[in-house]
Amino acid sequence: MEDEQIIGDASGAIKSISIFGATGSVGTSTLDLIRLAPEQYNIMVLTANSDAEKLAQLAIEFSADLAVIADAQCLPALDAALAGTGINIAGGADALVKAARIDSDWTMASIVGCAGLEPILTAIERGKTVALANKESLVSAGALMMAAVQKSGATLLPVDSEHNALFQCLAGASLDQVRRLTLTASGGPFRKFSAAEMQNVTPAQAVAHPNWSMGAKISVDSATMMNKGLEYIEAYHLFPVGLDKIEILVHPQSVIHSMVEYTDRSTIAQLGAPDMCIPIASALAWPKRMVTDCAPLNLVDIARLDFEAPDYDRFPSLRLAHDAIAQGGACPAILNAVNEVAVSAFLEERLGFTEIAQLCEKILSDYHPKTPHGLDDLLAIDSKARALAIEGIV
Ligand code: NDP
Repeated sequence: MEDEQIIGDASGAIKSISIFGATGSVGTSTLDLIRLAPEQYNIMVLTANSDAEKLAQLAIEFSADLAVIADAQCLPALDAALAGTGINIAGGADALVKAARIDSDWTMASIVGCAGLEPILTAIERGKTVALANKESLVSAGALMMAAVQKSGATLLPVDSEHNALFQCLAGASLDQVRRLTLTASGGPFRKFSAAEMQNVTPAQAVAHPNWSMGAKISVDSATMMNKGLEYIEAYHLFPVGLDKIEILVHPQSVIHSMVEYTDRSTIAQLGAPDMCIPIASALAWPKRMVTDCAPLNLVDIARLDFEAPDYDRFPSLRLAHDAIAQGGACPAILNAVNEVAVSAFLEERLGFTEIAQLCEKILSDYHPKTPHGLDDLLAIDSKARALAIEGIV
């Protein structure tokens, strides 16, 4: 059987690839998969925010056409590192958007935060395939992004492990046959902490996720369970079955990545080791399958699977996300923007762990802009919410 499986495209056609956020955790896992058969891919664009050294190393290794650094102050360092290589370089947020216009077949959207929104929208407008890891952009601008997908005919492939699991479980089915979508959640490192114990947790404790190895921001989001709240909003946009058909289930082993229950009460689940290479491989080879070197799922070793209802009192971020999408309008964008600022402040030890949700709640209750009707409105709301969050921290 192994010999019959394929890596990449069975036709032998070379897939051209752009990776926005190439130096991060998801970007690195994507490039690890490409290393399995580099001759099958042509790397057009790689981007980073400020890690010029890593970006240059990757651009050289994969013979990228263009390396873009979002922080323009880091452009001289990128220039020096790539001198004489013939690799084109660019710097600044506008350069990211320009790079997203380059006509690659498959774009990985793995920038962290709403900074990824404009490049993703630009890549979607080209009508090719976008693999979406950057959940914050979808949470903030869900209606806008899904309308752009519809208009351009782009293929949006979910990379977040839960949404990729739902996508796989839904293959070929119509959403009107769905009774329930269940998003599983590990519960994060503080699943068993009391509300009082959570007040004193440190950034080092919060980023030490029990099952997954991820970037710092999503690790903190997993610890507050805001990550699951953002994923709830993400699921609402990607699989429009209605909020009452989406539920969250705590499953500490992270073996079942999500489940679809159909109208006939059949439930289909996707399982795998907690390794982001698995959902990324699914998106990279889609609609085919590729061979990976990921660890197999050993259910004898795992032996048991546990499930619990989520605790909305100890993890108020879940309630905030639920209420934000139920209320709609600007609320999800405000929640996302304030959370991004609050998580950075927590990582810099300027805000307590439990104050992350408190700050989100306060600004959601104080700031009531009109529903955004386009990208400019949305970016204005995002930046005002960030300014209010910064004021709320000092
Ligand atoms: P990382 O922090 O590891 O990487 C983020 C990437 O984005 C880096 O390449 C970073 O560049 C770049 N970046 C950061 N800020 C900016 C900016 N302002 N402008 C442009 N580029 C920027 O994050 P992850 O890989 O963990 O997560 C990426 C996205 O994927 C997030 O939205 C996350 O929620 C989602 N995701 C991640 C999973 C995971 O397992 N890690 C799982 C599911 C979803 P630099 O290195 O220079 O800072």
